[in-house]
Amino acid sequence: MVITIGRAGDNDFVVNDPHVSRYHARLLRDEEGCLFLEDMASTSGTFVNGSQIAKKKVSLTDTIWFGEEYKLELSEVLKAGNDYSEDFAQLKEIYDKYIEQKVKIQSSNQFKTRLFQTLPFAFIGVIGVLISTLGKGSTVLFGISLFVTICVPTIGIYLGAKQSAKIPRQLQDLANQFKIDYVCPKCGTFLGEIPWESLSNRKQCPVSSCKAKWVKD
Ligand SMILES: [Zn+2]
Repeated sequence: MVITIGRAGDNDFVVNDPHVSRYHARLLRDEEGCLFLEDMASTSGTFVNGSQIAKKKVSLTDTIWFGEEYKLELSEVLKAGNDYSEDFAQLKEIYDKYIEQKVKIQSSNQFKTRLFQTLPFAFIGVIGVLISTLGKGSTVLFGISLFVTICVPTIGIYLGAKQSAKIPRQLQDLANQFKIDYVCPKCGTFLGEIPWESLSNRKQCPVSSCKAKWVKD
């Protein structure tokens, strides 16, 4: 990938500044994804972090000047070349986090639901043992044990159902946020549940009119 930068209208990134040469510099991305800025024998020179350069490896954190008058924003230059590699790379974390949280919600709810459904039976067992040891023949204790045997599982089933109903709501909230975050950095289209790795292999936005590229692997 090469993006030409300068005052002339046929550059990829046109700079309307009299201190900038007609063909001032160019930005290249090599196969490893590294960025290089190359000065095209400009009049006022190209400076990276205060030092004049002919060709230098650069990153978005570097401060770049053309001469003393024009500050170059690398992120803007990349966007002019439809290169959204840096923004796209950040989507990996969003995707991984989404999947991780989704699994977490599902398994935590599954556990709680099971707990609510099985705990009452353990409780009934304990009550049964207590009654048989302490109060053989007592009508009151028999009444209590009958009551517990009927009510406790019902409560358990109710709580279990309530717990499992929470899953769709929590997942919905998570999915809604994901729809906002997991979007093409250029056109803002939600990228669906397409795994980041698959998108990375495609190397460009699935929306054909968008033209955003994420060339870095
Ligand atoms: Zn797009």
